[in-house]
Amino acid sequence: MKDCIFCKIVKREIPAEIIHEDEYVLAFRDINPQAPVHVQIIPKKHIETLMDISPEDKDILSAIFMAAIKIAGNEGVNSSGFRMVQNCNADAGQEVFHIHFHLLGGRKMTWPPG
Ligand code: 5GP
Ligand code: ZN
Repeated sequence: MKDCIFCKIVKREIPAEIIHEDEYVLAFRDINPQAPVHVQIIPKKHIETLMDISPEDKDILSAIFMAAIKIAGNEGVNSSGFRMVQNCNADAGQEVFHIHFHLLGGRKMTWPPG
């Protein structure tokens, strides 16, 4: 997708601190971190929202969560805890319309979310 900022990160057209890559997934540090650990885990494929996932994307979803497990360990938050957030559409505050999972950790989280 030509004007998608996350597609541009996948294609290395804009810089990001990439910490994981595999066949399906890229993960990089958020530019405006909301916690000591704040990583974006995204599919390399351009998918706009969670609602646009189809059964053929099941390998992508699996890869996202396997990457999350690995990243949580590498970042040292697997035991202390972390949060995975997926904002879908306007009420959730989705700003980038290339599906992404926030992995947040390194501080105590509150509930309910804002
Ligand atoms: P959303 O509100 O769509 O769930 O989250 C979008 C996230 O992407 C935000 O946390 C924002 O800081 C992050 N973000 C937006 N543009 C960039 C960018 O160019 N590089 C990086 N690393 N993160 C970005
Ligand atoms: Zn995209």
